[in-house]
Amino acid sequence: MSRAYRKFEDDEQQGAPALACSCGRAASWEELSSLGARCTLCYRAYCSAHVPGPTKVANVPEGPIAWAQRLKLREAAGDRLTIVQREAWRSALRHEESAA
Ligand SMILES: [Zn+2]
Repeated sequence: MSRAYRKFEDDEQQGAPALACSCGRAASWEELSSLGARCTLCYRAYCSAHVPGPTKVANVPEGPIAWAQRLKLREAAGDRLTIVQREAWRSALRHEESAA
């Protein structure tokens, strides 16, 4: 019998193993399972936290690759872009430069 299995059996005999949120508060399995591994207090804080939307960029000339320029400016302003967005704007602007 492995040491890990014996530990599991010991926990079983002492009742449900103690679970804790990352903040350190004890939480039930049901609470952690339904609230995304958070205790109720952490879940309320998570729900009320401000989630910033994409940065609005001004003075972008219109055109077929304005989307790429907007993404470039958003990245420069500190927005987190997806890998696809980052690669797409770079590819579009590189293509535009080589065509000009
Ligand atoms: Zn918590």
